[in-house]
Amino acid sequence: MNSASSAFAIQRSLNDIEQEFDVIIIGGGITGISVAREAASRGLKTILLERGDFGSGTSAATTKYIHGGIRYLEQYDVAVVRESLRERRILALGAPHLVEQTRFIMPAWRWSKPPTALIGAGVLLYDTLAFDRNLHAPDSLRIPHPRWLSRSKLLAAVPWLDQSGLQGGFAYHDTLNVHPERLLLAYAKSAAAAGAVLLNHTRVTGFVSTSSDRLRIEGVAVTDVLSGRDYAITGKVVVNAAGPWIDKVLATLGKGTGVGVDRSKGVHILTRPLGGPGRVADAVFARAQSGRHVIVSPWMGKSFIGPTDTPIVGDESGVVVDPDDVTLILDTVNSTMAPTELKLTTDDVEMTTVGVRPLIRETTDDDGATQDEGTYSASRAHELYHHADHGVDNLWSIGGGKWTTGRATAEEMVDELFSNELKGVRSRPFDSRGAAAGGTFAWAEDAEPFITDAAMAMNEHGIPLHIGEHIARLYGTEWVRLDAIVQQNPDSAQQLSPNCNDIEAQVIFAVTDEGARTLSDIVDRRLVIGTIGSVSRELLERVAFIAGPLLAWDEATANEAVRREFDRRTVIATHWRTPVGGSSR
Ligand SMILES: Cc1cc2nc3c(=O)[nH]c(=O)nc-3n(C[C@H](O)[C@H](O)[C@H](O)COP(=O)(O)OP(=O)(O)OC[C@H]3O[C@@H](n4cnc5c(N)ncnc54)[C@H](O)[C@@H]3O)c2cc1C
Repeated sequence: MNSASSAFAIQRSLNDIEQEFDVIIIGGGITGISVAREAASRGLKTILLERGDFGSGTSAATTKYIHGGIRYLEQYDVAVVRESLRERRILALGAPHLVEQTRFIMPAWRWSKPPTALIGAGVLLYDTLAFDRNLHAPDSLRIPHPRWLSRSKLLAAVPWLDQSGLQGGFAYHDTLNVHPERLLLAYAKSAAAAGAVLLNHTRVTGFVSTSSDRLRIEGVAVTDVLSGRDYAITGKVVVNAAGPWIDKVLATLGKGTGVGVDRSKGVHILTRPLGGPGRVADAVFARAQSGRHVIVSPWMGKSFIGPTDTPIVGDESGVVVDPDDVTLILDTVNSTMAPTELKLTTDDVEMTTVGVRPLIRETTDDDGATQDEGTYSASRAHELYHHADHGVDNLWSIGGGKWTTGRATAEEMVDELFSNELKGVRSRPFDSRGAAAGGTFAWAEDAEPFITDAAMAMNEHGIPLHIGEHIARLYGTEWVRLDAIVQQNPDSAQQLSPNCNDIEAQVIFAVTDEGARTLSDIVDRRLVIGTIGSVSRELLERVAFIAGPLLAWDEATANEAVRREFDRRTVIATHWRTPVGGSSR
């Protein structure tokens, strides 16, 4: 259907696993993908193994910000905030088509805790720590200093706020990660272009090792989840970047490492836009009298609200959104709204997301027990564990971290590999601080003129301007590939749904060039449609009809894929509406 693949294509092929790799990475979230990009770009023979799809773990469930984390200042976590602010700038310059500077409003009421003066001090400190925020930034990405908004200005910007006791608010900027799924994919594509082998749907089931008084890791055992076949992959060093599951991966060693993970559940809801359609452009960091906060973000014409932060005690494998999670978010946001505003109810919830935060356990124990103290104030720092310290050679694990700090963690990790197990291995010069993500139009340049030009060029081939803009914004320079697909097959310019600007050509590209292998891979992480609300059975059937032949699915396989994906989505959509003990549990 399409001719040569793009320079950034991700081709899922198990033929590539025979060689000995320098580094094997377990986990294809933002941490693992960033390590793969860094390692391959610096000349290492790299393979990454992800049991689901790239970015389908915690990295799929974020609040969608590349941010310093202003609230961590309350925990005096200045180092994490400073590192995150530095990364915020680096990531924004490296992919201007996929990020958006967003104004945040932090309202201050008479009863606010911390009190207004202290919030102000925090906002100022946040700004001071971001002293280099505009270095190399084009005008469109420049972040202004924060400022105080009077009560009337605040209400003009955020009309739904409770006015009683409202003093005004602080306005400051952070960076919206518009489509975290596609930004992660852009880094994956950079890794692939640098030679990394990236295998999604490939589960690591254990380690290949020799043992004397110490355990010497020589590779990993994997199962190709799609075929059920088992393989062994050998490499000089293994990096365990399995996020909240690093301890589960380590458990297969059959030997204690002292590394523990605390996990917390984070839920968001997608609702009608607070304040009315098209009226609210700012994100609001609203802290209720209960002390809980939510971030209300304008996203795709709706409000994206969350997160919760509740410790997970026991099994984290099937973490789902419960009725209590949604009630907590609704109660928190409703309590910050004016009495005259129509409160949000469960009927307004169009979609939910849920993720498991990986948090470093400060006091480690070997039994894997989860601390049951609060996780809200736990540090978001990352940590590299060198298991040589635990009697296991050639193995590292990465704990904690944020989406925002994935690149920095990866740089640190690969530096460590070159200083230890891969000492003497030839490296290539590469500086991820100044490197664009795959498909970026130009590093540190305003993407808008490029997007407009691309949309006009696509328009000459019959693609409406607004669809062309949608494609250029999502795919950057790879719009050319989508355009070529449409030229070869004009029907593929058709929109998949009137609710979204995605077109059929994106489904084709997802399979041929972006490693998508399931319907969820396509609609949830290559396209936008799965991230903005309900996906109908008809839509899944249409996607399967387009993708099926490219994936060598016969009719029965395609029907089964549709049935399973629709059932999976139905369970997610109804579970939190079902009282505890109800039938969908
Ligand atoms: C609700 C919520 C909101 C957040 N908001 C933000 C935000 O706005 N900004 C921000 O910077 N950070 C945010 N974070 C934090 C951020 O999302 C995480 O720190 C980050 O995504 C973790 O990435 P990771 O790659 O370490 O983990 P993951 O994304 O979970 O990746 C680990 C991967 O390992 C895979 N894996 C596990 N076991 C195996 C195995 N045996 N074999 C192969 N693969 C395996 C998993 O499938 C998974 O894909 C948020 C977190 C949550 C929960």
